Amino acid sequence: MMRENIMQIDIITLFPEMFENFLKTSILKRAQDENKVKVRTVNLRDYSTDKHRSVDEPPYGGGGGMVIGPQPFFHAVDALKQDGSKVVLLSPQGRLFTQRVAEELAQMNHIILLCGHYEGIDERVRQNLANDDISIGDYVLTGGETAAMVVVDAVVRLIPGVLGNELSASEESFSMGLLEYPQYTRPREYSGLKVPEVLLSGNHEKIRRWRRKEALRRTLKLRADLFESFSFTEEDLALIREVVKEELESLKY
Ligand code: SAM
Repeated sequence: MMRENIMQIDIITLFPEMFENFLKTSILKRAQDENKVKVRTVNLRDYSTDKHRSVDEPPYGGGGGMVIGPQPFFHAVDALKQDGSKVVLLSPQGRLFTQRVAEELAQMNHIILLCGHYEGIDERVRQNLANDDISIGDYVLTGGETAAMVVVDAVVRLIPGVLGNELSASEESFSMGLLEYPQYTRPREYSGLKVPEVLLSGNHEKIRRWRRKEALRRTLKLRADLFESFSFTEEDLALIREVVKEELESLKY
């Protein structure tokens, strides 16, 4: 699908310097150089109306740590927001970030990511400013910055044209609903460890079937939960029967 506009991602953070190398490296750099995406970091302090540019206060009701107040976030989003902007709060309490969520965000024209820090962000930001909240997993990070990097990385590589080979993204783990098949490169043999013969055969149909079967095997062994939302084709059912038989055989001695 062709995009009408270049995707813009704005990251509102107290620590823009954390993103410097990240945005200047590898595929993210190339995507920006080739105008597939514009990524901008915005210093939350620049939007504080406090004379010392302070953004945080102790929590009402007591307790440790500092909470970032609503004012700088509301002002920053107000300055950046466009029609249809997606305002995403990064929070350990948000919906879990998955490949499906990355695919959904990759359709947006403008995403604003709000990074918290310290004890977190005043609840009014989540309720009245953000229209989505995302967690990258069930653990607590020091700040939203590393989570924002995860989201930006996973989303940008899905923008059409960003990965040289469009197949790369569509065949990867989770895109097909399965884990990816094992990958090999030269040499054919390393310290006695051989590459599976079929991959050297040049027979595209055999390679395709082998890859599908190994993707099913991996998923069965490592992430069987993914099968709950997976639609098996007739071929998949035949392949998974073979896999189960082989795995049971390998248990016999
Ligand atoms: N007190 C908060 C709580 O218990 O929910 C945790 C605050 S955490 C120390 C500081 C900031 O890190 C959060 O505001 C959020 O932006 C970010 N953060 C922490 N864990 C995260 C996660 N798993 N996913 C996304 N962002 C996270």
